[in-house]
Amino acid sequence: LMDMKSGLAGHRIQIGGKTLAQELFVCAGQCTIDPKNPAFFIETAHAVKEAGADVIRGGVWKPRTSPHAYQGSSEAIHILMRAREETGLPVNTEVMDEDQLRIALDAGVDMIQVGARNALNYSLLKKIGELTRESGTPVLLKRGMHMGPIDEFICAAEYIVANGNPNVMFCPRGTLPNLDGYRNHPDESITPLLKQKSWAPVVVDPSHSVGRAIYVPHAALSAVSYGADGLVIESHVDAKKGIGDDPKQAIHPDVLANLIADAREIYSR
Ligand code: PEP
Ligand code: MN
Repeated sequence: LMDMKSGLAGHRIQIGGKTLAQELFVCAGQCTIDPKNPAFFIETAHAVKEAGADVIRGGVWKPRTSPHAYQGSSEAIHILMRAREETGLPVNTEVMDEDQLRIALDAGVDMIQVGARNALNYSLLKKIGELTRESGTPVLLKRGMHMGPIDEFICAAEYIVANGNPNVMFCPRGTLPNLDGYRNHPDESITPLLKQKSWAPVVVDPSHSVGRAIYVPHAALSAVSYGADGLVIESHVDAKKGIGDDPKQAIHPDVLANLIADAREIYSR
């Protein structure tokens, strides 16, 4: 905890020409890349760039509640990298194990996401620290569903830092028990607490927190009001035809554009 508070005070993470904690950072794109419909992802990538996003998100491998639901596929990494090439924006994807981590890093993924389900997978966190020691690839660490808001979260991030990579971002993404009507219990309110105890930026995920597209802008703007340094948001050009979380929680890139403009205005106050 000492390290997270003082050892790296003043450390700044850079990605895609942006410096975290100096300008509002936005990562947006589909929950899931559908390899059967690659055109959707490419179109979404261009649209979120147009909307003002700094990094494109796209799920290649997916942690699904049911083993019978779409699990992701390594072939989707090529679609993700095509979006990177076409837009010129950095890309983010979630990895759940060391094999996926190696595939993502070898392909040139710019930002690695650790999902809520793996936030306490210390072996994976250590491995990420080791394998990104040289590249310093930024890592978005989601808050685990049963994770304490502050110390347990900070210690999990510290696993990555202590094993070689200081470029970690905290990502509150809703917790349990769910607030009736929302997917989870919105937890953007922990942002100032995290920022008080750690130097690391806080990049809130309103999409998984509320889990319903219509509430995402409210949660996003509230996160920025709480002092968040960035947002990670699910967006899709045709959400109803998406897979994974997109039909329920992805916002249209037009909605994203307005949201980003409003968020940047609040951030700059
Ligand atoms: C996601 O970002 O699509 C995801 C699975 O998030 P979480 O790990 O927060 O559930
Ligand atoms: Mn999702």
